[in-house]
Amino acid sequence: MRKFNAVVLGAGGVGKSALTIRFGKNVFIDQYNPTIEGMSPALSPRLLTDPLPEEYRCELIVDGHKCVLEILDTPGTEQFTALNEKYLKNARGFLLVFSLTQESSLRDIDSIRQQIYLAKGTEEDVPIVVVGTKLDLSNEREVPRATIHELAQSWKLPFYETSAKRNWHVTDVFEDLVRQMRKR
Ligand code: GDP
Ligand code: MG
Repeated sequence: MRKFNAVVLGAGGVGKSALTIRFGKNVFIDQYNPTIEGMSPALSPRLLTDPLPEEYRCELIVDGHKCVLEILDTPGTEQFTALNEKYLKNARGFLLVFSLTQESSLRDIDSIRQQIYLAKGTEEDVPIVVVGTKLDLSNEREVPRATIHELAQSWKLPFYETSAKRNWHVTDVFEDLVRQMRKR
């Protein structure tokens, strides 16, 4: 069985942990605290504002092929200027996460994207998926779909609009990344 590792990057509070936990829960529901959903971040400081990177190991089947995906959820407080090179060098694939409700979080991932290409020394062959979160908060949306289409074309990367809360398109994100990683 093939094994892949990926890292989840993006500004604090955009929903990296919520996305990762939502995905992990669907695969290994028993490994996670089932009461986490609906729990306020104040009541669940370790899971929702984790100070340390947290690794999740998931088995999944993509296009009939079983694989193991190790996902490193990075701390929400990570500063990009001090973005740990280790994450970039060690990871095979990248989830660049921004919030659809926060336009500035899109600029943050642009900077991370460039740092990834610098660390890898190439723009070819780097598996990346861009994830917009909080799709359910339509009243608070700041990033229009047109912006996403433009960026997807100029960055030549797949974009997904998701909601960890409603479990919209979360699996699609991880499957896309596995497909990209499997090709190389
Ligand atoms: P992180 O710092 O990037 O790991 O962000 P968290 O996963 O801790 O999420 C930050 C806040 O956004 C928390 O209060 C989450 O409950 C909330 N959040 C995350 N994803 C969603 C979502 O899809 N919908 C809604 N409504 N809230 C979300
Ligand atoms: Mg987090």
